[in-house]
Amino acid sequence: MRRAARLLNRVQCLLRSPLLRSARIIACFFYNTHTAERIDIVYRRGDQYISDALAKLDFFLRDHRTGDVRHFDPRLYDILSDLTFSIGHPDGEIDIVCGYRTPSTNESLRAHSTGVARNSLHIQAEAIDLRMPGVDTFKLRQAALALRRGGVGYYPHSDFIHVDTGRVRQWCFDYPSSLTTGD
Ligand SMILES: [Zn+2]
Repeated sequence: MRRAARLLNRVQCLLRSPLLRSARIIACFFYNTHTAERIDIVYRRGDQYISDALAKLDFFLRDHRTGDVRHFDPRLYDILSDLTFSIGHPDGEIDIVCGYRTPSTNESLRAHSTGVARNSLHIQAEAIDLRMPGVDTFKLRQAALALRRGGVGYYPHSDFIHVDTGRVRQWCFDYPSSLTTGD
């Protein structure tokens, strides 16, 4: 069954073109680095989001510290789908470093580490931190910036990028600004 599912996914990926968006089936293929769970699910057919699939993704992206679930902005999955397509890995697995955060989890992270925003869009379920196995994270970040579809943060020391559905903006955490200007 697993091989059949992957084959189906590959066929779906052939349809992943912005020109074919109105007709295509779009899937998410995620691995959660905290829970070691995996999800491979069609969340959209054409212009229609699939509510059952979105609910499963909401649970998958729950705050792993508290178990709290919040409904995610599905446009985030569209951004990630276009991101994997743009870097030439349309069927590539995305490692999820962080999905939803409760306000209390966000405050706890702020207290114990740097680079965590007070009003993080993770609290609104509008942001995901991620990396892709086999893909250079800097190149992933450049591709995300090129989409111009929301915020993109780069965390080179932790080797992940942040993507959200907020306004188009970018930042780098603890990285020489001379290497990141001009884009
Ligand atoms: Zn983030």
